[in-house]
Amino acid sequence: MRLSRYFLPVLKENPAEAQIVSHRYMLRAGMIKQQAAGIYSWLPLGFKVLKRIEQIVHEEQARAGHIPLLMPTLQPADLWRESGRYDDYGQEMLRIKDRQDREMLYGPTNEEMITDIFRAHVTSYKDLPLTLYHIQWKFRDEMRPRFGVMRGREFLMKDGYNFDLTKEDALHAYNRHLVSYLRTYERMGLQAIPMRADSGPIGGDDTHEFLVLAETGESEVFYDAAVTDIKLGQREIDYDDKAQCEAVMQEFTSLYARTDETHDPALFDKIPEARRRSARGIEVGQIFYFGTKYSDAMGATVVTPDGSRVPVHMGSHGIGVSRLLGAIIEASHDDKGIIWPEGVTPFHCGIVNLKQGDAETDGACEGIYKALKLIGLDPLYDDRDERAGAKFATMDLIGLPWRITVGPRGLKNGVVELTSRRTGVSEEMPAEAAVARIATIYEGI
Ligand code: ATP
Ligand code: MG
Repeated sequence: MRLSRYFLPVLKENPAEAQIVSHRYMLRAGMIKQQAAGIYSWLPLGFKVLKRIEQIVHEEQARAGHIPLLMPTLQPADLWRESGRYDDYGQEMLRIKDRQDREMLYGPTNEEMITDIFRAHVTSYKDLPLTLYHIQWKFRDEMRPRFGVMRGREFLMKDGYNFDLTKEDALHAYNRHLVSYLRTYERMGLQAIPMRADSGPIGGDDTHEFLVLAETGESEVFYDAAVTDIKLGQREIDYDDKAQCEAVMQEFTSLYARTDETHDPALFDKIPEARRRSARGIEVGQIFYFGTKYSDAMGATVVTPDGSRVPVHMGSHGIGVSRLLGAIIEASHDDKGIIWPEGVTPFHCGIVNLKQGDAETDGACEGIYKALKLIGLDPLYDDRDERAGAKFATMDLIGLPWRITVGPRGLKNGVVELTSRRTGVSEEMPAEAAVARIATIYEGI
């Protein structure tokens, strides 16, 4: 993309309404525009990152064997009456009437609808295990929408639902989700720690929330510092291997790590004092096992091998896709702007032309731009007629992890400059070498 033809409405001033850094930078970098409290338009740069995050979520769900579908945002109230949640959900649910006076709602989550799909089409244990998920907009009429996309009213969520014959199988689905979520967050450059949590209105006993540590997080958390040393990394996972998934789950959840809802001071005090931490965190996901709560209420049963009918065991598993943008920025920025991890960056590399209109400099920039595109990368070329300082400030604000700077002085010596946004370190090298380096960096990401 050439910046002269792009739509990047950068703000020079700090927007007064933004209290935390991610909200401030998302507004300043022209990623979002508020349309009503907690409701945003996703401008091109923000939309691009949102799509990258979605893509990672899809890839990791596919790896775990989970199947995508798409359910609507609007749901009939009657489905929610079957589970009893229509009345329980309270004011967070946006209730709507259509022209026939039928009661509808904008879905805050989809347990009822997915159970309805299941009961309409699945009748035999032979069709299990089954995990279906979608990435769809949700609406919750939050009392205090704030912090930009972190606590929106309309927000994008990945929500998945497993259907299993036995509790044991459903717990495998739980572990499988836990492992796949760890991978998902790590690919986004994030450490999200699974913490024992409270199940809230979804119901159930087994649940973990995934928390990204950040001072601006809304959750109070307590943990053993040793949990922050555990990484999934590149290890091979066989998602059908129950023992392996359980072992990973145990590894990541055995040390003390809890949100304030389940915090147990007596247990916490047993951690060696030097490793005790209380901090704040951003909830970027949650997994639940809730047994037959919905299948009982809604008649989602299957025929077992011995011919009897039993309700299926279920769980639901959510990732806060739009909230993740805020969480990533909270975890990765400096005082000049965002620093995108390579896995989610909106453009792989920026190209800054220091002397727009100079034939040789323009030509070199064009060459780099085309070479990057040819190898399948997505560069952003700042070809505007602007001062170098303004171009650098924009690149720093929007946070592309790599920048190639091209100017007449360097070109005289046959070099351009490659700069890492994270370290600020610049290296001079021929243009071809810079392109080759960028190609290597993104191999396998
Ligand atoms: P919270 O406690 O933050 O209100 P929740 O526990 O009610 O969230 P879940 O039902 O677990 O939310 O939804 C799954 C994920 O969706 C959450 O882990 C979070 O990342 C995201 N999410 C929930 N509410 C919002 C919101 N209002 N804005 C943006 N993301 C949200
Ligand atoms: Mg939650």
